[in-house]
Amino acid sequence: MPEKRLRFAPSPTGPLHIGGLRTALYNYLISKKEQGKFILRIEDTDQKRFNKDAEKHIYESLEWCGILPDESPFSPGEYGPYRQSERKELYKKYVNKLIENNTAYYAFDSTESLDKARKESEQKGETFIYNWENRERFKNSLSLDADTNKKYVEENKYVIRFKSYDKKSEKSSIQIKDKIRGNINIDLKLQDDKIIFKNDGMPTYHLANVIDDHLMEISDVVRGEEWLPSLALHWQLYDAFNWKKPSFAHLPLILKPSGKGKLSKRDGEKFGIPIYPIQWIENENIIYNGFKEIGFEKGAFINFISMIGWNPGNEDEIFNLNELIEKFDISRIIKSGAKYDFEKAKWFNVEHIKKISDKNITQKLTDDILKNFQEIIETNKVKDLLKIVRERVTFRKDIIEEINLSLEYNIQEFKENLSRLNFDNNINELLILFMDYYKKNESIDMIKNYYMEDMKKREIKIGDGMKALRLCISGKLSGVDLFSLINIIKNDIIIKRINNSLKLIND
Ligand code: GLU
Repeated sequence: MPEKRLRFAPSPTGPLHIGGLRTALYNYLISKKEQGKFILRIEDTDQKRFNKDAEKHIYESLEWCGILPDESPFSPGEYGPYRQSERKELYKKYVNKLIENNTAYYAFDSTESLDKARKESEQKGETFIYNWENRERFKNSLSLDADTNKKYVEENKYVIRFKSYDKKSEKSSIQIKDKIRGNINIDLKLQDDKIIFKNDGMPTYHLANVIDDHLMEISDVVRGEEWLPSLALHWQLYDAFNWKKPSFAHLPLILKPSGKGKLSKRDGEKFGIPIYPIQWIENENIIYNGFKEIGFEKGAFINFISMIGWNPGNEDEIFNLNELIEKFDISRIIKSGAKYDFEKAKWFNVEHIKKISDKNITQKLTDDILKNFQEIIETNKVKDLLKIVRERVTFRKDIIEEINLSLEYNIQEFKENLSRLNFDNNINELLILFMDYYKKNESIDMIKNYYMEDMKKREIKIGDGMKALRLCISGKLSGVDLFSLINIIKNDIIIKRINNSLKLIND
């Protein structure tokens, strides 16, 4: 089987947003599943919309996500150059072939004459299209004599258009195939004669894209739904060159959080949610933080992105990159648009934080805990502490804060919280007896059982009894799992804190 070669081909007109990143990710996953190659090609033929910082943002986003291309402008392979602006000469050669085989033609129409024709159509309530019905009424190599034609071409005042349909053509319709949408019938008589080569000497996206996919031996094209309307032209271009086509798949749109309409750049600001993987600085002063700066684990981010519009066919949702490579299957991509749900992104982060292995929790964090809380916690309990704390945080950077909250005891806070509790004599006695039992050094499960039983005997509601114990140990009414915390804090500290608390209550 020939090698799988998939590409991500962004135009560097602005920062890479999550839609583009999803396209890149799917291309990466499909290529890696079959030990193929993932290629980054920069499609910079539109010099007017070029943004000098975009390419860096695209590359650094892929880098942060850990989906680096095997071939790119930064790591060229045998199919370079990987920037279309550096391949300029090559397109000219290929477009000439289309002129020669009569599937493309020179057009010399001025902007004014085209505007005029457009207006006339509008007045008649029609949409202007330049094609088989009217092309001979315009100024092009099909309507002009050979000498005039030659003169205009030499003056370099032309564009090249693709002949989408010809009265002499055998077929007036074609069937194109998309892996997600199935077969689509196209009526060639309704197609426009698109410009494939501009008068600045550059190809348009369509031509460059097809030539490069062919020359770079791309096996599968996976891209956004917005390119589906261009597929018929691309299909015809392959035929005009007599080239083998890659397979095509057009991904569903990513929708706004409301589920209504396509997610746009402005939605980030409007809903206060990130839409870029990494930070983007606009005009050197407006900073848009990405998922990275907000504190997302890259594994969680990729997992979240992978599931906007795809699922593995069962309830499983948490995957690392290698698992995604194994599970990903294009046939399970949904056809309709998929909503961007930021709460879901956070949920993925929570789940990924729970799975970080201890060795990935830095030594520095452990050292800090021991330094700041050495009187409160034994060295061998740091691991347990990290485990319970991890279950409660959304971002890794919140771990320190959660540790501080779990281990400290603040009198002021204790007093404020006390006023919210119904602390009667029955509960007071419960806590005194708890201390007696606790001092016997039984296992934490035994201690918990004892406490539960005692609450029952005294007809104290579980919620009230647990809150009272937590308050006396931490000064708080909520936090990490209480008995796990009791098991982590040193025995003498537990006793001291309960005693002090009872003293404050009874004074
Ligand atoms: N340059 C196009 C874009 O910006 C690429 C579309 C394609 O993948 O064919 O999305």
